[in-house]
Amino acid sequence: MIVTIDGPAGAGKSTVARLVAEMLGISYLDSGAIYRTLTLACLERKVDIENEEEVLEVLESINLEFKEENRKGRKFFACYLNGRDVSEEIRTSEVSEAVSVVAKHKKVREKMLYYQHKFAHEHDVVCDGRDMGSFVFKDAEFKFFLTAHPSVRAERRYRELIEKGIKTTLEEVKENIIFRDTTDSNRDASPLVAAPDAIWIDTTELKPEEVAETIVSFVRKGMK
Ligand code: C5P
Repeated sequence: MIVTIDGPAGAGKSTVARLVAEMLGISYLDSGAIYRTLTLACLERKVDIENEEEVLEVLESINLEFKEENRKGRKFFACYLNGRDVSEEIRTSEVSEAVSVVAKHKKVREKMLYYQHKFAHEHDVVCDGRDMGSFVFKDAEFKFFLTAHPSVRAERRYRELIEKGIKTTLEEVKENIIFRDTTDSNRDASPLVAAPDAIWIDTTELKPEEVAETIVSFVRKGMK
């Protein structure tokens, strides 16, 4: 089974997707983390991330692994770069600032499909991202598109980062969200767009648990 949850940064996708995965007893696929891991590799190699060929060269020379692990009693989407666990490192502002540039390259996106399809082939998944329902998993059984007011999205993302111990300011987070939304929505290769058959949920006034329950009830009804 594949459940897709797409939407802009800070709409609550990852928190909701994790909850839905737990409630349905299936796995969580964090597609953003896959792009973030490649971005970290590009930053470490100091390549020009605007240059598609340079990014592709990095991608072809590294070893990426994405595994489901058990951490703190919960399922966790772990990211490894050349055998090194980078699951935390990929959340820094440096990576957040660069990731949309890395992710806009068409050939890069084509190659990244492999990791997403492989994980979904091995597990039943709830996946979150920008093009899960519209492109990567077009045939998914259940598709959702989350939105929220931009100021709410920035505040959520800011709180999330502070809780993870990452130094940032609300202003910086706001700017990053606007930059990523614009880049993700305007790129040629599978831009951020709702699949025509996705169910829209505005999460501005909702708690993650409420959104997750709404999604789970749609899925359970659909499974009957
Ligand atoms: O989900 P997260 O905010 O971690 O995603 C980081 C970035 O990765 C997004 O801003 C976007 O540029 C890219 N991304 C993408 N397609 C996806 C998931 C993420 O282009 N399916």
